[in-house]
Amino acid sequence: MLDADIKETLIENLIGQLAGLPSIGRKTAQRLAYHILAQDSSAVNELARTLTDAKSRIHACASCGNYTERETCRICGNGRRQQNMICVVEKPADILAFERSGSYLGVYHVLGGTISPLDGIGPGDLNFARLWERSRQSQVELILALNTNAEGEATASYIVQKLQGMPVRISRLARGIPVGSELEYVDELTVQRALESRVEMG
Ligand SMILES: [Zn+2]
Repeated sequence: MLDADIKETLIENLIGQLAGLPSIGRKTAQRLAYHILAQDSSAVNELARTLTDAKSRIHACASCGNYTERETCRICGNGRRQQNMICVVEKPADILAFERSGSYLGVYHVLGGTISPLDGIGPGDLNFARLWERSRQSQVELILALNTNAEGEATASYIVQKLQGMPVRISRLARGIPVGSELEYVDELTVQRALESRVEMG
């Protein structure tokens, strides 16, 4: 009976919303919900404002598609980074894996997903137009850092095929990364090794 007695709609809703976040189980969601409720109103308002501000002001970088609150992101705007070495990833979170390794000095291109006919995602739904444009700079190297699942492979083949005959070097990460694994969770050293021993494609 006790369980039913403490079930209040708003608390349940809060716990449900938190439990919907990645890596947050039901128990952690409960702990977070009770932590939030125990805080001052000002702290909770600040958290709510930060969430809505972040969502309304952060958008895709005009050059690479990474998250930024400016026109172009810090990485694209950094003059010390090699603008013609472009690491192609599926989503902004994948960039973190490379940045954590500290060994990559090029820039990125975020596709916004992979080609997946089963999910109704075709080339037209992804950020390819800008990639072809960037590939026309001189001496470009594209490093494909897509997941090694069927969709990642299909997307890599599509890129190689589309850029055939263009003076672009295309390589892919070495097979240090387990098949189907999510790039954003791979450790720094593995990422660094996969970058260093990248393999030229066609
Ligand atoms: Zn950028």
